[in-house]
Amino acid sequence: MPIQTAERFRPFGTTIFAEMSRLAAEHNAVNLSQGFPDFDGPDFVKDAAKRAIDEHQNQYARSAGVPELVTTIARRFAQRTGVAVDPMSQVTATSGCTEAIASTLLGTVNPGDEVILFEPYYDSYRACVAMTGAEARFVTLRPVNGRFTFDPEELARAFSSKTRAILVNTPHNPTGTVFTREELDQIAELCQRHNAIALSDEVYEDLTYGTPHISIASLPGMADRTVTLSSLGKSFSLTGWKVGWAITSDELSAAIRSAHQFVTFSTSTPFQHAASVALQIGEEYISELRAMYLRNRDYLGEALAEIGFDVIVPQGTYFILAEHSRVSERLGVKNDVELAIKLTSDIGVAAIPPSVFCATEGHCSNYLRFAFCKQKATLDEAIRRLRKIGS
Ligand code: GLN
Repeated sequence: MPIQTAERFRPFGTTIFAEMSRLAAEHNAVNLSQGFPDFDGPDFVKDAAKRAIDEHQNQYARSAGVPELVTTIARRFAQRTGVAVDPMSQVTATSGCTEAIASTLLGTVNPGDEVILFEPYYDSYRACVAMTGAEARFVTLRPVNGRFTFDPEELARAFSSKTRAILVNTPHNPTGTVFTREELDQIAELCQRHNAIALSDEVYEDLTYGTPHISIASLPGMADRTVTLSSLGKSFSLTGWKVGWAITSDELSAAIRSAHQFVTFSTSTPFQHAASVALQIGEEYISELRAMYLRNRDYLGEALAEIGFDVIVPQGTYFILAEHSRVSERLGVKNDVELAIKLTSDIGVAAIPPSVFCATEGHCSNYLRFAFCKQKATLDEAIRRLRKIGS
């Protein structure tokens, strides 16, 4: 049979996360590619899900989210940002943040609009923009003094009367940048000047290592033109539960819900109840997780530096971007994709080639992304194998 895939998806192929995890399994490699913990989330949250199942919370949930969960999310958001939101009309629970992004773009963006993405971008952003029929515009993040950031003039040039939205991701995957107040002010000012909305993916909001996380919704004039997107997965080591949410004005919530009701209708009922418990009493778990990830960041980062990588120390997320020129020279490969394949098959460690997150040919091809959301023993084994690269 000829190719059956719709044209809008043909440019995207299979996501790099599935590709690399498959290659890692094939070669029995330590998988530092796809970002997921190799340990379970906390028992008190797992027990809450089991309880919800036993207590008959097993039919469709309210489409926009079970009242307990949206109420918890609204309360927590107000505590963190100072922005008061109505749980029933301004919070929508989704099947992970990935669905929140898709439903938000599908519900708010028209064909012919433009959506601004920072590159490297998380791969689903670009595919979702394609689903809406809008055009993606790219603003390039580059390293300046050991941290990826944008050029404010390039950002200003990307905005026009066609701009409907900008997708912000802070803490940023894959660079580890946590956007500063000044950077967010620049984005906010442009959104207001061009009457655009900000979609802010904040799934790594709890995973910062000393740099405060700021929600762009908390900036003056932004509460009603920002959709704040987040999820349970990263903060509670439960990436397979797929509970996410979108917080925004009544009007933008109505737009998101117009898509969400036809995409998934609602998300899993017992997991929403368990998510509500996690978000109410989970702060201590999150602090311990953050402390462990900080140790992992430094442990893996120092080892990568000794092996010959130039490490960008992440301010947030559970990823390290490492410049690989010296390593790839030693191994005789020419870019991140070749190196990722060679490391997986010959050395036994899988990582993500970040050039696949870029529209500009070759951008970030001198980096690899390593996930450190792993047990110490897993990192030990990865480091032991990487040392075989030699100097
Ligand atoms: N967010 C994860 C990462 O960046 C991957 C999620 C997925 O596989 N879809 O590694």
